[in-house]
Amino acid sequence: MTPQNAIAIVYDYDQTLSPSYMQEDVIFPAFGINAESFWRRCSNLVAEHGYDRELAYMKVLLDTFDMDRPTNAELKKLGQKLNFYKGLPEMFEEFRNHLLTEEQIAHGIRVEHYIISSGLKVLLDGSRLQPYVRAIFGCEFAEDEQGRIIFPKRVISHTQKTQFLFRINKGLLDMWQDVNDHMDAEIRPIPFPNMIYVGDGPTDVPCFTVMKKNGGQAIAVYNPDDPQRVSFRKCYQLSAHADRVKHIAPADYRPNTHLRLLLEQMVEETANRIITQRKEAIETGTIPAPKH
Ligand SMILES: [Mg+2]
Repeated sequence: MTPQNAIAIVYDYDQTLSPSYMQEDVIFPAFGINAESFWRRCSNLVAEHGYDRELAYMKVLLDTFDMDRPTNAELKKLGQKLNFYKGLPEMFEEFRNHLLTEEQIAHGIRVEHYIISSGLKVLLDGSRLQPYVRAIFGCEFAEDEQGRIIFPKRVISHTQKTQFLFRINKGLLDMWQDVNDHMDAEIRPIPFPNMIYVGDGPTDVPCFTVMKKNGGQAIAVYNPDDPQRVSFRKCYQLSAHADRVKHIAPADYRPNTHLRLLLEQMVEETANRIITQRKEAIETGTIPAPKH
């Protein structure tokens, strides 16, 4: 039997871990791309030609680079410059050593972090968050013979993001593994009640719904420094009017913030529930006692 001791915190990226869009944060300044006309061309492909939003930005990026398409390695380097909300990446470092109690650790409990983004995986692979994250899922470009990016290899639209929640649930982190293969609930490495999803808005609704349906937890975060309050209103709408998500919090990952208190409380309760269930299982003889 799989131990089911892991707790997964799964994050969206743009506007959830970072106040900006990753393309604007590092790609546009590096290549002198005008943000306004870039996004206008994307919107045009979506509105006039029926493109998926993600394929639209990947196409406009390739069209803009034209003959000067960079390599994935060059893009990965740009990822080092990605900026995050306050408290990141420090929170991940602090969680490594101070999140779980000795008892929880003795029971084999561990916390894993995952990112599911409709942005570019290669940028996140090069970012300062990468060392702390078990797996990063995002859109990817294939390369030509010279190593330059040439065509979309993988596209994760906001509706497809839920597939990756099931990959985490089933432990199928490699793309060649078929996420649709049947797997009994008791051998799935990370049951949904052990999962916490952090997102920022309407594009995360499919994931919020999967969490809700399957007994997982979710938090919608907003940018507290947005003077227009667009980001706050999106979250407020999701929780107050649409009943999509129970908790909303400012995207501030520093210790003692509302978001940190929520995350830490959710981890603590989940860990304690896992331990209680294990103790019951040991008493009834279903599983052997943990070795100390
Ligand atoms: Mg987002």
